[in-house]
Amino acid sequence: MNDVIILGSGPGGLTAALYCARAGKSTLVLGGNTLGGQMSTIAELENYPGFLGSGAALSEKMKSQAEMFGAKVIFASVKVIKNKESGFAVITDDGKEYESRAVIIATGASPRKLEIAGTREFMGRGVSYCATCDGFFYSGRNILVIGGGNSALNDALYLANIAKSVKILYRKDSFARAEKVLIDRVNATENIFVMWNTELAEVGGDDSGVTFATTTGGDKIDCDGVFVAIGHEANTDYLPESIKRDELGRLIPEELPAGMFVAGDVRSGLKMQIATAVGTGCDCAMDAVAYLNRK
Ligand code: NAP
Repeated sequence: MNDVIILGSGPGGLTAALYCARAGKSTLVLGGNTLGGQMSTIAELENYPGFLGSGAALSEKMKSQAEMFGAKVIFASVKVIKNKESGFAVITDDGKEYESRAVIIATGASPRKLEIAGTREFMGRGVSYCATCDGFFYSGRNILVIGGGNSALNDALYLANIAKSVKILYRKDSFARAEKVLIDRVNATENIFVMWNTELAEVGGDDSGVTFATTTGGDKIDCDGVFVAIGHEANTDYLPESIKRDELGRLIPEELPAGMFVAGDVRSGLKMQIATAVGTGCDCAMDAVAYLNRK
């Protein structure tokens, strides 16, 4: 029996692990498939104070620091959580069961899917949701980036170093959501072009992969790849529907059962940043430690 199980190994989960372990609680992190979660896909971090480098490197540092104080990190994804008299049983996708007195949920968010004709068919053959994972394959190619938030602009800037040209397709007429520093860089990058008031209707191609996309206005755009960055959705599928979510599907701390806490992008009201994930990881770990000490 662990004192606390932490679900997720992003910045929220690993910060919670550090604080729980330092409080002397036996701490198990079930880290999903990828250390660092969304953070691991960031090529160059610029807005987490005190650290410049890749998201993968920061993930490793956060993991090592939590382990230094006794936290155990294993890579498995939660499938279901059951209530037990003594606390909780977490069943993972490999069929194993782990018990704990408290659970910290830090399962983050995954990229929202673009549900139009062709995106499922060409997934992995020209349609991608991860620029840093797949950008390498588009050296010298012409690609589209869909979206107008920080993720879309970050992706476009990363891909512009690899591809011949990058067209950002955005459904509005100006970038209102994105950081100014990113907008300025996009404007200053010669091989990035923006198509305003544009939405895709279809992605198409042949056996070699994506060769074109069409807009809802009926225009055909020749391209070799489509990178989608249209937001994120909280990962909560393993929890019963009876646990109330907010309008974005994120978990509300006050609505969770006793002994369950939430940190990071899966938490309602959070501005999705590494700094805020770290803050909620610390916050809910301190609440979890106080809860365990009361029992
Ligand atoms: P986001 O800020 O929610 O932006 C999503 C974008 O996709 C919006 O421009 C939205 O358009 C567009 N969109 C949504 N659904 C669409 C659809 N069906 N078809 C076409 N376009 C669609 O999401 P995000 O960029 O993934 O960022 C998520 C959070 O992470 C934000 O809080 C962001 O600040 C943070 N983040 C921060 C950084 C950084 O600090 N550098 C980097 C990445 C992400 P509308 O604008 O019209 O709604």
